[in-house]
Amino acid sequence: MKRYLYFTMVLAFVTQGAFAQKSYIQAGRLVDVNTNKMLLEKTIIVEDNLIVDIKDGFVTGGAEDVLIDLRGRTVMPGLMDMHVHLENETGPRRYLDRFVENEADIAFNSSIFAKTTLMAGFTTVRDLGGSGVNISLRNAINAGKVDGPRVITSGKSIAPTGGHADPTNGMKRDLMGDPGPEVGVINGVADARKAVRQQVKNGSDVIKITATGGVLSVARDGNAPQFQQDEINAVIETATDFGIHVAAHAHGDEGMKRAITGGIHSIEHGTYMSEETMEMMIRSGTWYVPTITAGLSVAEYAKIPGYYPAPVKAKAETIGPLIQETFGRAYKKGVKIAFGTDAGVFPHGENYREFIYMTEMGMSNLEAIQTATLRAAELLGMEDKIGTIEKGKFADIVAVDGDPEKDINAMKDVVFVMKEGKVYKMD
Ligand SMILES: [Zn+2]
Repeated sequence: MKRYLYFTMVLAFVTQGAFAQKSYIQAGRLVDVNTNKMLLEKTIIVEDNLIVDIKDGFVTGGAEDVLIDLRGRTVMPGLMDMHVHLENETGPRRYLDRFVENEADIAFNSSIFAKTTLMAGFTTVRDLGGSGVNISLRNAINAGKVDGPRVITSGKSIAPTGGHADPTNGMKRDLMGDPGPEVGVINGVADARKAVRQQVKNGSDVIKITATGGVLSVARDGNAPQFQQDEINAVIETATDFGIHVAAHAHGDEGMKRAITGGIHSIEHGTYMSEETMEMMIRSGTWYVPTITAGLSVAEYAKIPGYYPAPVKAKAETIGPLIQETFGRAYKKGVKIAFGTDAGVFPHGENYREFIYMTEMGMSNLEAIQTATLRAAELLGMEDKIGTIEKGKFADIVAVDGDPEKDINAMKDVVFVMKEGKVYKMD
């Protein structure tokens, strides 16, 4: 009997004393993204990288545990941005950068943008296109070498020759060359399959296609469809064999229709989305990631003389301002919406602006937060691990000053960031 008692005491010491320090996070307000309700006075208990319990009221642990006092703050799940570009950031030199930057330069820059994003409360992002350095960035973050959000990356986007994601658009002939599927430029079904397989081989988690023209490429058109139907189908079928999603950048309606017909997982931007296309999306369960912030930002930058090359300026002025209104129509119609900003097109860390623009179109403040948590996790198919503050999920937890249910501008003031149980910010 005595021996048994001794044994259990040792066991208790080993499991709770030495190895099981817990964090007790006392939350004055807690956003419940399952119900879009504000809960009051809760304590979240975190052990290692997981949420192990949530208790009513303000609870404290033992002497060995850590107390995190957020009684005056609003706590919510780590925010998630489904459309960022961590490799670069807008600036008047942006169109020169691609001729002077090596991959090492991109890597150093991206480590700063990743940290800025995390400090803004975004603990998970989807990187929808870069040079491929974004894959190394993801690996470095996962290995704990760089501070940043959890990154779901598309590596390099896929486009046809001269399409929005053709990396040699706008260059003189000898620099243009003839890029192929190994760098994401495809013509025909065989190229489409090869480009997807190459991205998967490189380590991409998701495939991104540019289904129509885009604003920031030095190319004449921002709306026209860019793939034939058989090419889109081949991309999606090949990706589906690997069990990964395909996201489509699209401004024009015909390109969206082809992408949805092919079984696309999400439409990005969606500027000229027709009512008919919205109905197609509702029927097929296609996600819409609006990126209103990017639209409004490019329209502003276009006013600065020389900021963009001439063809880009014209597209930025016409396409940019329309996205917010499209979002409003899609929201009212009932299209599934996940939060995405296109950060990089505007400065990283300003992702919160999207919340303001969404609520300006009639979405409630807490529903906007839901699109950046629960809904984004659903888009990724990761809702069993992230997106809510519930027992058994990763401890991705952030807090803001003030009450975002009353004033959405509070989303700007992120004072606490925890990712997988590790505290990165505590003001
Ligand atoms: Zn983008």
